[in-house]
Amino acid sequence: MKKVVKFGGSSLASAEQFKKVGNIVRADASRRYVVPSAPGKRHSKDTKVTDMLYGCYALAEAENSFSEEFAAIKARYQEIIDGLSLKLSLEKEFQVIEENFGKKAGSDYAASRGEYLNGIIMADYLGYEFIDAADVIRFDENGEFDAETTNEILSKRLEKTEYAVIPGFYGAKKDRTVKTFSRGGSDVTGSIVSRAAQADVYENWTDVSGFLLADPRIIYKPERIELITYKELRELSYMGASVLHEDAIFPVRKEGIPINIRNTNIPEDEGTWIVGSTCQKSKYTITGIAGKKGFCSVILEKDMMNSEIGFGRKVLQAFEDNDISFEHMPSGIDTMTILVHQDEFVHKEQSVVSGINRLAHPDHIEIEADLALIAVVGRSMKSSRGTAGRIFSALAHANVNVKMIDQGSSELNIIIGVKNEDFEVAIKAIYDIFVVARI
Ligand code: ASP
Repeated sequence: MKKVVKFGGSSLASAEQFKKVGNIVRADASRRYVVPSAPGKRHSKDTKVTDMLYGCYALAEAENSFSEEFAAIKARYQEIIDGLSLKLSLEKEFQVIEENFGKKAGSDYAASRGEYLNGIIMADYLGYEFIDAADVIRFDENGEFDAETTNEILSKRLEKTEYAVIPGFYGAKKDRTVKTFSRGGSDVTGSIVSRAAQADVYENWTDVSGFLLADPRIIYKPERIELITYKELRELSYMGASVLHEDAIFPVRKEGIPINIRNTNIPEDEGTWIVGSTCQKSKYTITGIAGKKGFCSVILEKDMMNSEIGFGRKVLQAFEDNDISFEHMPSGIDTMTILVHQDEFVHKEQSVVSGINRLAHPDHIEIEADLALIAVVGRSMKSSRGTAGRIFSALAHANVNVKMIDQGSSELNIIIGVKNEDFEVAIKAIYDIFVVARI
């Protein structure tokens, strides 16, 4: 058994948190490769070290003094080293970093030092080997992550190393220029390391006990999702459910390695399992609900639309010309609706409308703003009759007017459009019918 364990910033924010992590790693000898984030917030008003580094580097880049900010970063690490009673000194590392800040080594380099330094401390604390991610995670000359070269280099490196710490969030180009993933990218590193190590499990330790069935800001104490497939997770994450970085699924998905989301503060909780496929039925007909506010619909009408070849293409061309991606496109015989993000669309609205008029000549165009989309996701929906019926009767009882319905062809999700102001009520109604009433 071989496990890769990734710890998020809140799990490593202080010496006290490091000790919890140490206990978790030492409790299971198969936890062989550790991927740390940079220290996160110790309390709600605190600042993440990554943000401190970005701020400090911005000063250096503008040739302002950054010594105070730099000292505050040093203090964060020293507090951890002292709290763990380590003999380690990062003085030399900080000298190099300060010099490189002065030489304007780039904001990616600056931000990556958060994980780099935390990795050195973690390796010292655990007695594991330290592998610099810049040596094993490769980006191409355009700054795109190079998955195959990385996998080659990293798997060879790990073959020789039984226990190691590999800092998250960054890698380097061939010429050694440091490059980071987008924010939250240590999740991606964990997944890359899991693939290269051919791990049995990728454990992702954070400050929640896994994914919840619905947003806890809307539903009081929602149930935890015990098991979810990669595909279901993708649908939910896309609609705003966030625990894991979106790109973290791809490397492990290739190898069918399950991800287990766990809580560093309550390690006995089973967390959520994310798997490729499963014969296990979900506890409820639905696996989860997620949603987002802030959409607009552009409703088009044209007589005989259905028989006009190329109508859809021409309409979408108008959106493409304005660099707007669309979310959904339900259609009727003579009508077609395009759903877009309101904030992307609002400044370009008239340009899109004139583009549609010019290219597709519809009879009528109407725009409706302030819509919310809700995704009801579940692999069990395919085999259970009446799911859509239950959703819509629940919404009708809650007095919610449904503006749009779209069922994905995989029967994995049903997307519902409602007014922004009905969003919370709608989610509650759907949660109640499937989870509370368990109908
Ligand atoms: N430290 C980085 C961030 O704050 C990466 C991570 O934590 O995954 O985004």
